[in-house]
Amino acid sequence: MPKAQLQYLSDELAKLREAKLYQRLRVLETEQLPVARFDGREVINLSSNNYLGLTTHPKLKQKALEAIEKWGVGSGAVRTIAGTMSLHMALEEKIAKFKHVEAAVVFQSGFTANAGTVQAILGREDVIISDELNHASIIDGCRLSRAEIKVFPHKDIEACEKILQELACRNVRKLLITDGVFSMEGDIAPLPALVELAEKYGCIMMIDDAHASGVLGRNGRGTVDHFNLHGRVDIQVGTLSKAIGALGGYICSTRDTIEFLYHRARPFLFSTSHPPAVAATCLAAFEVLEEEPQLIEQLWANTRFFKEGLKKLGFNTGMSETPITPVIVGDAALAHEFSRQLFTEGVFAQGIGFPTVPKGKARIRTIVTATHTQQDLTRALEILERVGKNLRIV
Ligand SMILES: *Cc1c(COP(=O)(O)O)cnc(C)c1O
Repeated sequence: MPKAQLQYLSDELAKLREAKLYQRLRVLETEQLPVARFDGREVINLSSNNYLGLTTHPKLKQKALEAIEKWGVGSGAVRTIAGTMSLHMALEEKIAKFKHVEAAVVFQSGFTANAGTVQAILGREDVIISDELNHASIIDGCRLSRAEIKVFPHKDIEACEKILQELACRNVRKLLITDGVFSMEGDIAPLPALVELAEKYGCIMMIDDAHASGVLGRNGRGTVDHFNLHGRVDIQVGTLSKAIGALGGYICSTRDTIEFLYHRARPFLFSTSHPPAVAATCLAAFEVLEEEPQLIEQLWANTRFFKEGLKKLGFNTGMSETPITPVIVGDAALAHEFSRQLFTEGVFAQGIGFPTVPKGKARIRTIVTATHTQQDLTRALEILERVGKNLRIV
């Protein structure tokens, strides 16, 4: 039954269809694997964040099953009431130790970790200085905090310092915040320079390492470890949903900051904690990071191979320096057509346009994993070349 009060939403959808920007959800019919079946078609999967193949790691599956047997399927409450199991505490202790910080707290997702933390620690009187390409969850956290938001052009240290100089005469609390690895560009934040600015101008320094967790630094410890900046970044965010292979997000900081979040971070206070199987899986994943460093080595070997292949073919891969490699084509309709034809030929690389990336910067995004074989990647490059030539992208 059509509902008059919802008609405007149907109208908006019709506009998307007309502009060829309408997207159906692709449905995965197998495990999340480097070659997987989506919508009935077997494709080389260049769209998952499953960097190390941990979504199907035998040890993680075993730990999840054992946790269900021992603890059941749900935690039954929010963390602050009855939903803190000893498994949750063990995971947080493991993360804190792994990251060489005083304490860590786990949220239901990286999104809630960011949004909940930024909102909790800042208020109306404060100022946030934020890279223009920061993730949506940071932006939402900034808005929810009601603090003043100053955005600097992507990785522009001079522009960032100019904002800080202008703020120097105002007695306000300041948060300098950046993604560690930018999710659509695949480039790395200039963290050493940002940390120096934060120290010089007395800012809280916060980094969102969602795409760096399990990818950068020793054993995947993240950007702070990659740049050897231990002790100089006040708040680190990580995700358990990408390389770690399950679901969740975490905050690393001082013990008091973490305890403050127990009292003020709204997703922690008002949304139920992880099922025990998820906590157990994540705990095991940190052990795997330490036991199987060859996974990260393979991830980077595959990254180098695939990136070089794309460049040799003449694709515009932008500023990427990580396993995330965009192929920028400009026009959003072209990006979606590129993605559609690739899929038909056997490669799944998601098309991405506005508002996820700026207008005129539409792209397909590729992500290689440790579990792709050389053969998978060679075949993917052949298909990219054929379709790219067909569409006159190269
Ligand atoms: C994916 C991502 C998140 C959200 O993490 P989830 O655990 O999937 O909610 C946050 N920040 C960045 C930069 C991301 O890429």
